[in-house]
Amino acid sequence: MQIVAVTNQKGGVGKTTTAINLGAALAQKGKQVLVFDLDPQGNASTGLGWSPSERSRTTYDLLLRQVGLPDIVARTAFDLLSIAPGTLDLASIDVDLADAPDRLVRLREAIRTDVKRSSFDYMLIDCPPSLNILTLNALVAADTLVVPLQAEFFALEGLSQLMLTIREVRRDANARLRIGGVVLTMYDRRNRLSAQVEADVRQTMGELVFDTVIPRNVRLGEAPSYAMPILSYDPTSQGSRAYMGLATEFLERQHATEAV
Ligand code: ADP
Ligand code: MG
Repeated sequence: MQIVAVTNQKGGVGKTTTAINLGAALAQKGKQVLVFDLDPQGNASTGLGWSPSERSRTTYDLLLRQVGLPDIVARTAFDLLSIAPGTLDLASIDVDLADAPDRLVRLREAIRTDVKRSSFDYMLIDCPPSLNILTLNALVAADTLVVPLQAEFFALEGLSQLMLTIREVRRDANARLRIGGVVLTMYDRRNRLSAQVEADVRQTMGELVFDTVIPRNVRLGEAPSYAMPILSYDPTSQGSRAYMGLATEFLERQHATEAV
């Protein structure tokens, strides 16, 4: 099982949308995928059909060592796509684990044995919008990062902080962590600003930026309220095609790095 953290400490940049829809696109390509909801807002869980009242065991219980990964995995209506639901309780994790010396390696330790024997090909972690204990747990547990950047004026803001954190995590806890790619989201082809931001991001981040760009597409915004990935809600939409393209590119890059 490859662990992919979808992360950016800014809110509203498309992390959850990417975790759900890149996950569904990989599942459509025959991969067994688990979306792991590490955000107290629980949007990935709701967006995949698990409303707060229906969630019993969650990623919070896993971090508190009360359950194992197989105990929290729930089905979704989408073939080959599962969810490990999150909960609002995650908001208090900083306090709950304040005195735990292992607070940054909780997730990695909790899933250590499952990583080797799991039938999942990919676990996509939907991170919260901050560089807190939850996100650090994701970075310590992950093999790869996918960083969504909203194609807006402040896209690159905060990225240097994220890069610094990644460097520290590599040095102290997870030397094999790599950046799978940066993906531009909510791209508006009719807006000159989007093109300008894309040019800036490609110049700054170079090869790290996926060729695939996710357009602003209302269908992507609507799909979660029907508890569906875009690929079931509107398979022929621009959003569907974009996330399928991203999945293809993501898999190609994985093979490229495996070959090195
Ligand atoms: P984050 O998880 O980073 O906070 P979300 O994925 O929840 O961001 O996206 C923020 C909002 O923007 C949500 O309402 C979502 O439905 C919407 N959204 C995300 N990506 C797109 C897109 N490509 N086109 C249109 N709306 C989008
Ligand atoms: Mg989110």
